Amino acid sequence: MDLYDITIIGGGPTGLFGSFYAGLRGLKTKVIDVLPELGGQLTALYPEKYVYDVAGHPKILAKDLAKALATQAQLFKASMVLGEKVLNIERVDDQWKISTDISGEHRSKSILLALGAGACVPKKLDVDYDHGMEGEYIFYAVKNKEKFRDKNVLIIGGGDSAVDWANEFSLLAKNVTLIHRRDQFRAVQTSVEEMKRNHIDIKTFYELKDIQGDGKVEGATIFDNRTGKEEHLDLDAIIINIGFVINLDFLKAWGLKMDVNAITVNEKMETNLPGVYAAGDICTHPAKLKLIATGAAEAATAVNFAVTYINPTAKAFPGHSSNLNLSI
Ligand SMILES: Cc1cc2nc3c(=O)[nH]c(=O)nc-3n(C[C@H](O)[C@H](O)[C@H](O)COP(=O)(O)OP(=O)(O)OC[C@H]3O[C@@H](n4cnc5c(N)ncnc54)[C@H](O)[C@@H]3O)c2cc1C
Repeated sequence: MDLYDITIIGGGPTGLFGSFYAGLRGLKTKVIDVLPELGGQLTALYPEKYVYDVAGHPKILAKDLAKALATQAQLFKASMVLGEKVLNIERVDDQWKISTDISGEHRSKSILLALGAGACVPKKLDVDYDHGMEGEYIFYAVKNKEKFRDKNVLIIGGGDSAVDWANEFSLLAKNVTLIHRRDQFRAVQTSVEEMKRNHIDIKTFYELKDIQGDGKVEGATIFDNRTGKEEHLDLDAIIINIGFVINLDFLKAWGLKMDVNAITVNEKMETNLPGVYAAGDICTHPAKLKLIATGAAEAATAVNFAVTYINPTAKAFPGHSSNLNLSI
């Protein structure tokens, strides 16, 4: 079995930038992700949204950023293992044994955990409906905005995703209704204010009762959870953004020190396990900000210190890449 210098678990923006840096430092690198595509949340959750706060990109579609990160991540020919879920990590003979659900086992000198929110599974609606309609009429993630052009769209939720999509579709769709079971929104205040200014029918204290339609969505019944009063909506599509099922208990079983749902790291991005680093949304430290930009910085720190773990005589500082003469 091939022994890698570093195995990065998670091919989201953090893991991808980590892969690039590991290649730059000459590490034999492997990236493993449970999803069939690289990009993490950028690809899986909001490929069609613009991101404005990534260095060097005043405005970039999330899917384009994911593509650029994936290209950069593979510059040094890292091994990419997709569609494979990591189930366990275990110390064996001074190496790490990484067990997965498909190919079984990988070996590595060090590990970078870039798991984001874990293999994040959207919370499903608690009503009966034909699950064959998912992806065409009922959506837990938006992959193609054009599907909503001139359509009657219901959005369910009160967080950033729900409010952002309501704003995004206020011009593109024919009608947008947003229902939320409370009158407090978790989304950022500026987006909520924008939503209130936009042409969106916002119904707080409303929940979904049922969905009508045979093979495709034709309508839905919603109800006021204070009075029980029902209302019918004619619809073409429903977007459900009611959060994710996050279960990271397995990380404790791997022996990692956790603070609620995040792995505790120090300033070198070291976890409590030797040679195991964490970066991006999955880790926490006193100055933690969950952003693509900070995840990239954490990945660079983690990989450069992993270099010193693998070779104690190596320096953590990589030098300036602009001094290199790379044939890439
Ligand atoms: C709607 C929305 C809009 C956002 N907009 C912005 C923005 O404008 N700017 C910004 O900076 N941030 C934004 N964010 C946050 C940003 O997307 C995250 O901070 C970023 O994706 C974190 O990157 P990551 O690589 O750490 O984790 P993720 O992107 O979550 O990637 C983690 C990867 O690990 C994989 N994985 C997990 N568990 C396993 C396992 N057991 N085995 C194998 N693979 C596994 C997952 O499949 C996933 O691909 C937004 C988030 C959302 C939801």
